[in-house]
Amino acid sequence: GGNLVEVRDLKVHFPISRGVIFDRVVGHVKAVDGVDLSIPRGKTYGLVGESGCGKSTLGRALLQLTPPTSGQVTFDGVELTTLPPNKMRSMRRRMQMIFQDPMSSLDPRQNVESILVEGLQAHGIGADRNARREIITKTLDAVGLPKWALSRYPHEFSGGQRQRIGIARALVLGPDLIVADEPVSALDVSIQAQVVNLLDELQAELGLTYLVIAHDLAVVRHISDTIGVMYLGALVEEAPGDRLYRAPLHPYTRALMSAVPVPDPEVEDRRERILLAGDLPSPANPPTGCRFHTRCPWAQPTRCADERPVLRQIGDSRVACHFAEPIASGELRPHKVTA
Ligand code: SF4
Ligand code: MG
Repeated sequence: GGNLVEVRDLKVHFPISRGVIFDRVVGHVKAVDGVDLSIPRGKTYGLVGESGCGKSTLGRALLQLTPPTSGQVTFDGVELTTLPPNKMRSMRRRMQMIFQDPMSSLDPRQNVESILVEGLQAHGIGADRNARREIITKTLDAVGLPKWALSRYPHEFSGGQRQRIGIARALVLGPDLIVADEPVSALDVSIQAQVVNLLDELQAELGLTYLVIAHDLAVVRHISDTIGVMYLGALVEEAPGDRLYRAPLHPYTRALMSAVPVPDPEVEDRRERILLAGDLPSPANPPTGCRFHTRCPWAQPTRCADERPVLRQIGDSRVACHFAEPIASGELRPHKVTA
């Protein structure tokens, strides 16, 4: 029981430097700017948001692949941000990552066996070649690849099979946590569900904990116990998966949801379409107050531009909006919605 992962006030700021001879730091991109979240053991946390919202950086910072600027990341009770490198190395085995594009993350000159054996050797798993081969064969079976895959090369597989190799490479080390960054967005829609189902089955069988990062809400819907929505480096809403789809509370989540197609084409889609004005502002120069106020159809003068809303509990959700209740009740009407 309990949380496998706890993230507290996590910030990842990248310096922007300029200069001909001497670099000077002229600002910071606040890719992640104060995120709190917890992932219970054996559960899936879906993290969604537009490209550039900081979700991939958050995933990498969680695994300490990108050093956080400040804040804490606790994994199985161990604070990672202050852990000495040698201790971090042994923790690494327990926290693996799956990438968006298996083709670019798999070495084309290595066959499947050597791709998978690399991690085992690095972490000293398996007594000898035979023991390692047995672990690898079992892992291939678990991800639905045949034994003959061992001697084949990445280009000999389809996109979906390559992602299975990517999953096997993470799985072979026996991790507790898998961070999957856009695990299916490079795949054909027809293959996406198969890979998502595989992740789901592996979780049930092995008790894995997942952080699944996606820009597409439809992808995380069915596997996430909790979904967090990020906007410009911060969580704007977090809720149990079904709750978020049934009744999103934050204006940004409502806008994202209104763009998700209704699954049944026979059902008339009567939902209001919420179109967001303008582009995502730069995370180097985020808007004052509520970061969403420049695009929010419900923004109110002058509080939304002046005061940054904190993530607060409303029912079983956490929402960062000053006006979440009057928006939910319909008391406050949007001023920029199209039918
Ligand atoms: Fe919109 Fe204001 Fe709520 Fe921000 S705080 S989401 S600008 S209504
Ligand atoms: Mg990304």
